[in-house]
This record gives sequence, C-alpha cells and structure tokens, in this order.
Amino acid sequence: MTEPMSPVDTRDFTEAWYRLLRSGQGLALPPPTLAQVAGRTAELLRRSLAGTAADTPLADEAAALLVDAHFTDPEILAHAVALLHTQRAAPGRVAVVSGAFAAAWAAALRERTLREQESIQRAAFAAREEAERAWRASEARFRALFEHAAIGIGMADVNGTILQVNQALRELFCARSEDLRGRRVTDLVHPEDAPGVWEAYEDLVQGRRDRFTCDKPYYRRDGEVVWTHLTVSLIRGENGEPRYQVAMVEDITDRYRLQERLRHQATHDPLTGLPNRAAFFERLEALFEEPQPDARFGLCYVDLDGFKVVNDSLGHETGDQLLAAVAERLDCALTPLGHLVARLGGDEFVVLLENCRGEEEAVAVAKLVLTTLARPFLIAGHKLAIGASVGVLARTVAATTPGAAVRAADLTLYRSKESGRGRWTLFDPTQNARAVSRYAISVRLPVALDRGEFFVDYQPLCALSDGSLAAVEALVRWRHPQFGVLGPDEFVSTAEETGLIMPLGRWILERAIGQAAEWVRRFGDAAPQINVNLAVRQARNPGLVNDITRILDSSGLDPRRLQLEITESAVIGPEDESLRALQALADAGVSLAVDDFGTGWSNLAYLRNLPVSGLKIAGAFVSDTHEDGTEEPVGWRIVGGLVSLAHALGLTVTAEGVETPQHARWLRSLGCDWGQGWYFGRPVAPQEIARRITEGHSAYPASKSEAKSGPKS
Ligand code: C2E
Ligand code: CA
Ligand code: CA
Repeated sequence: MTEPMSPVDTRDFTEAWYRLLRSGQGLALPPPTLAQVAGRTAELLRRSLAGTAADTPLADEAAALLVDAHFTDPEILAHAVALLHTQRAAPGRVAVVSGAFAAAWAAALRERTLREQESIQRAAFAAREEAERAWRASEARFRALFEHAAIGIGMADVNGTILQVNQALRELFCARSEDLRGRRVTDLVHPEDAPGVWEAYEDLVQGRRDRFTCDKPYYRRDGEVVWTHLTVSLIRGENGEPRYQVAMVEDITDRYRLQERLRHQATHDPLTGLPNRAAFFERLEALFEEPQPDARFGLCYVDLDGFKVVNDSLGHETGDQLLAAVAERLDCALTPLGHLVARLGGDEFVVLLENCRGEEEAVAVAKLVLTTLARPFLIAGHKLAIGASVGVLARTVAATTPGAAVRAADLTLYRSKESGRGRWTLFDPTQNARAVSRYAISVRLPVALDRGEFFVDYQPLCALSDGSLAAVEALVRWRHPQFGVLGPDEFVSTAEETGLIMPLGRWILERAIGQAAEWVRRFGDAAPQINVNLAVRQARNPGLVNDITRILDSSGLDPRRLQLEITESAVIGPEDESLRALQALADAGVSLAVDDFGTGWSNLAYLRNLPVSGLKIAGAFVSDTHEDGTEEPVGWRIVGGLVSLAHALGLTVTAEGVETPQHARWLRSLGCDWGQGWYFGRPVAPQEIARRITEGHSAYPASKSEAKSGPKS
C-alpha cells in the first residue's frame, strides 16, 4: 500500500481527530485510553482514505472501535464525516470512506443497543423473578411465623377490632378464630388489670406511643384466668398514621402463680399462715407514706407466757401446734374487726390497728387478745393453759416512725412482763426510756463477752440444820455500758435465742469452776460446792461433756464439788441426746439438780429415771408458806409433799427464796435440806464468800443454830 498523504497531513488529521473525540464523550475516558483510541481510529481512517478498494474494512473497523469505546453520540458522527471531507484523497474516495464509516458506526451502535437491551431485559426478568421469589418466601415465612409461633399473636385495627389471631393465641384463650375475630380489644378487661394499662393502650392507638408492655390477666373462654406478658406495637401507614396494632401475648400463668406463691411465702409465716414480720412492716410503713395529718394507729405487741416451757418440755412439735392454734384464735377474733394480726417470730405476735380511734380502742383490743387466749388449748392430748402479755401503744403517725413505734411497743411489752404475766400495759414514754430494750441487748450482747463485760456473783446455799455454808450458786451479771448492771433475767433468754449462750455458758463454767478450785486450794474442805446453771440449749449441746471435763481437768477441781442446775425442761425435752450427756456427766462424778422445781410440767416420778441428785424448789412455794401458822397455806403443804417424795427418791432438797427466819424454821421442820435466799445471803462477789468461809460461822444467830438432820449429798 502506498502512502499518498504528506506527513504534515497525517499529523494534522490525527491531531484534529483527537480534538474531535476529546470534545465529545472522550472526556469521560482516561486520557491514555482516549489517546490510544484516537490514535488507532485515526490511523485506520487515514489508511482507509488512502486505499482504493470498494470495500472499506478499515473504516468499518474504526467505527466499531469508536462505538465500543462509547462514542455513541450522533454529533460525533457528523463531525467525523465533516473532518473526513477536509482530507485530500483520490476523487470520490472521501465519500466512499465516509459513507462506509457512517454505516458501520450506525450498525455497531444498533448492535450494541440490542445487546444492551437484551441484557437489561434479562436482568429485569431475573430481578422480577428474584423479587417474587423473595416476596413469596418472606410472605410464607411471615405466615409460618405468625401462625405457628409459640407466642400468641393477634392483630387488630386501631379501633380495637380484632382482625387475626394465631394458633397460640387461640389456644391461650381456649377459643376458635371466629370467637375472637371481630371482637373488641377493649372488651378484654380484667379486674386485676394493672393501673395504667388502658391509658397506655389509648396512647398507642392514638399514635402517641409505638409500644407498651405489661403483665395482664385475661379471662379465657372457659372462664379460667390466664396471666400473660403482653407487648403491643403500633403499625403506622405510609404517612405515619396509626393503622394496626399487633399484640404479642405470652402465657406466664405458671410463672405468675409461682411468683404469687413465692410472694405469699415471703409475706406469710409458714407455720401459722399469718402475715409475717416483713408483711407487717410493709403495712405499717404504708401508713406513714402519705398520712392524713391526724392519722392514728395502734399496736398490740403480744408475747405468750410460758411458751418456752411448753416448747422445751413437750417438744417443738407440740410447741408448733400451740402456736398455730394461738394464731388461729387471734386471727378469728381480730381480723374480722379489720385489724392485721401478724407473727413476728417465736411466740411473738402483733396486732396492727390501722385506723385507731385512740388508746381506749387499742386497750380494748389488748383485752380481747387476753380473753381470746385465756381458755386452755387442747394440743396433742395436753390441756395447755397459756396466757399472754401485751404491750399497747396508740399514737399519731406524725409523732413517731414505724421502727420507733415497734420498739416502743416491744419495750412496753417487756415492762408488762416484768410487772407480772397475763396483763396488758399501756405505752408510757418516760417509763420506756428507762426500760432496757431487748433490742439494744441483742445488739450489744455479741461483743460484751469479748469486752469482758460479764462477771459472776455467788449466792450461798446453807444447810437448814445449822446454817453452815454448803454451796454457792454462780449467778452471772452483765455490766452494760449504758444500762448498768443487768441480771440474767434480762439477757439470758436473748443469749439463748441468739446462740451466744454457748460461749457465754462456757465462760461462766470456766470462771465458776476456777473460782471453786481456788477456794479449795485456800480453804480445803471448808470450801463450798459450786452450783452452776445450765441453759436448756447448753444442756443439749453435744460438746457439753467434753467442755466440762476439760475445764475440770485444767482447774483441778474434784468433779464431786460441781453441781449443775438444770431446769425441768432441759431433762424432759424430747431428745434423749441431753439425757446421754447428763448421764455421762453424772458418771464422771458431777452432780445434777433440777432448778425451779414446780414451775414446769414434769412430775416427780419422772425424776426417778434421771441422773439427778438434787431438787431446788422454786421460791414461789416458799413465799406462799407465809404468815400465821393457824391455817396451812397451800405452798406449805406442797413443799412438805415435795420434800418427802424427793427424799424417797434419794434427792437433796434445796428451798429457794428463803427470805425470813420463819421460812428457814418451817422449811427445816419439813425436813428440807438446804436453803437459799436473802435470809442466808444475797449474791455477792467472790471475796465476800471467801470472807464468810474464813469466818466460818453459821448463817443463824448463835442461839438458833440447833443441829438437826444434815444435808444429804
Ligand atoms: P435461779 O437459778 O433460780 O437463781 C436464783 C435467783 O433467785 C437469782 O436471781 C437470785 O438473785 C434470786 N434470789 C436468791 N435469793 C432470793 C430471795 O430470797 N428472794 C428473791 N426474791 N430472789 C432471790 P438472778 O441472779 O437474777 O438469776 C435469775 C435467774 O437467771 C436464775 O434463777 C437462773 O435461772 C438464771 N441464771 C443466773 N445465772 C445464770 C447462769 O450463769 N447461766 C444460766 N444459764 N442462767 C443463769
Ligand atoms: Ca439456779
Ligand atoms: Ca432457781
């Protein structure tokens, strides 16, 4: 092929061609690509112009290349043709090439459009297919989800008309679709609906909120109640207007019932079924929340008299039955009057008068409590006469706090007990301030032992025959930093309840036995026997025998010089555990005496089976042997009978509460062995006992010391 065009022409054409392409769609191409396309097509066109053949494959190729490179604008074609016409070539050659170029360009463009359309169509078709498939799938998924969901789902419009319900919801309501469809959501009310549920519902259907959740009961079609956890969501239309509501309804009946049961358990005493301490405080505290200015309430703090004795001697089961019977009586008598009766624990009950009119009403309730409990209880074949003491308080809500009111009522009860059993006592602020709070005691007790606040006094037990010092009883005291010296009656029962009696009792044993051993070292046989009281709980402690033998060993005291005083309840308890321990102690040479005999429930014959060698007759009998001897008082006859029976069993008898010379004389004439009481000496510090041993003389005035029968031991 020849090259008829000059190089200048060639360069001009190429440049002009490049500019042409660049001015059009070529701007969209990266410059290197544009240069390449322009160079290649210019070359093809130039060679085609120079050619001679009738067919123009080079021009066709150039056109196809351009369309491929997206030069599809018809403007370009027009300019390209104009440019070709500026070129010099063989006559007619420009027209041929231009025509061929234009035709090829159009053909390439058409082909390309077709290709594109096809793939668009294919794509469109595929897209529609895909969309339909997805829609069907999601619709099916939705149906499956809706219909077979484990949770109940219902749909309603915003007027509350139910449109659709799924299977779970039908089952939950025990209903068919047609029973529910068309019904109004607002008809499904239940008296126990939580406050605010229907307000939340209104807010939702009005579009003021998008969701709410609550626990709600529904009536099933069969009338049963089903508890549900409900979530209602609002579905809005395109413009945000409320359209539908969807409710997810979960059956929580079982959970709810369990919760109810737990709540009941948490607020009720399992033994008596009465509201418990927590429930009582909840009710009491509620009174203080938003009180009327002159709102009043009353408290009757009730404690059974002698319950401990029943519990200890007849066993916990009987004790429990008694408590349940007491609770039932109180409940029947007081609850119908609108008062709350609760069990605070142990044998303590409380009556709350929520709208108390004043002290008279509270006192009337206290009297009712006392008469209600006055009739004996028949429990497990026993006729149990048990009384109660009541602390009464009526106050305005404004004047106190729940905690202070309960403490005040408790203190009032405590004062009531102190002044004698079976009575009520009205709250008196000045008296209460002085009374020792059992509460304060229980708080302080645990640290008192560590801080050395306890000490032991010793009270003489003298032979009634000659007034000589036979034994001393160790009596514990507590030097309380606020309340001064407290007697055991004020803290021993609390120590028993809290378990502190174990370490405290051990400490008393160490102290008393150590003291007795010291007296033996100093005074030999003139030293008295040591009597130590054992609390019931201590007597039942399996470690007791070890503790005592260890203490005896380390002090060097002869076991025969130790006597343990136990109450009847300790030996008559249901467990024979304690019996074994007491037997082991007796075998070791330690003697045992039954304390406060006559106040409990045992009979004398029972003592025959016990390893007991002494009997202490409660002071109450002795003080009843009083005054002129013309008529024989009952106590007198009882003591006489007891002494002869006890002697028949081989027991040494000690009379307590010997306060006068007459007491001592009478008791001696009855054959009683030893006496203890103010007359023979009050509980004193150990030095005082040592002084008496040293002086060695009788407790009787010289003229009266007539020796008769000595104590058995
Ligand atoms: P209890 O074993 O009957 O002790 C005798 C109580 O009677 C002592 O009271 C004593 O002070 C008092 N008393 C003595 N003579 C007379 C009298 O002539 N007339 C009157 N009215 N009372 C007299 P205390 O020291 O207050 O002890 C009370 C109770 O506390 C004791 O009664 C005993 O059951 C218990 N207790 C004392 N010390 C201990 C102890 O170390 N451990 C245990 N577990 N209980 C103890
Ligand atoms: Ca005693
Ligand atoms: Ca006693």
